[in-house]
Amino acid sequence: MDERALRELELLDVARLYGFEDAPAAASAVAATPAGQATWGELRVLVTECRACGLCRQRKQAVFGVGAETAPWLFVGEGPGAEEDAQGDPFDGPAGKLLDAMLAAIGCERGRDVYIANVVKCRPPGNRTPTVEEAAACAPFLDRQIELVAPRIIVALGKAAASRLLGTEVSIASLRGKVHDYRGIPVVVTYHPAYLLRSLTEKAKAWEDLLFARRTLSLQP
Ligand code: URA
Repeated sequence: MDERALRELELLDVARLYGFEDAPAAASAVAATPAGQATWGELRVLVTECRACGLCRQRKQAVFGVGAETAPWLFVGEGPGAEEDAQGDPFDGPAGKLLDAMLAAIGCERGRDVYIANVVKCRPPGNRTPTVEEAAACAPFLDRQIELVAPRIIVALGKAAASRLLGTEVSIASLRGKVHDYRGIPVVVTYHPAYLLRSLTEKAKAWEDLLFARRTLSLQP
């Protein structure tokens, strides 16, 4: 593999960790790393190269996650849409603008106090909801991101995120307003910003949910 190909695959930094002169061996070494033990750099390579489900066939690129790597807040969305698939960052389109406005309203900013990740890292065709199998194939990546960020609170944006994190299929309406648990981290559930763009009357409820999340965080030891 030449240097340009490695750079395109974002493998170069990891390859250097192993000594660039042996870059192909470095790439295979990363591929053999279980996601559950990966560093940030290794995890990014594993996600970039992942072929664990059919979503990889139509992606322009895998969308890893964005934000402060030790953020107190973690927001989990569903999966990349067309803009994210093209640009490479989660919540880059209209739903992302709304999410940023919601974050600003609670005094947060992506990159400063927030990390944003998705249940699946590759765009489901036509922006459909990821299947249970696709979410399961991507689960080690999200689980490891959560472990590495070690947030003080998680906000699940929409049903796919809530189902993946809480292992339940019940409605968002019935999950709102309660503190749930993901491996000892409090989880608050709210509507997905893309849904809020279509159902403006629900925005007030999402605002309540964020205030509830902020209160929950402030009560954390
Ligand atoms: N919707 C999501 O759930 N995630 C994104 O990254 C973009 C839109």
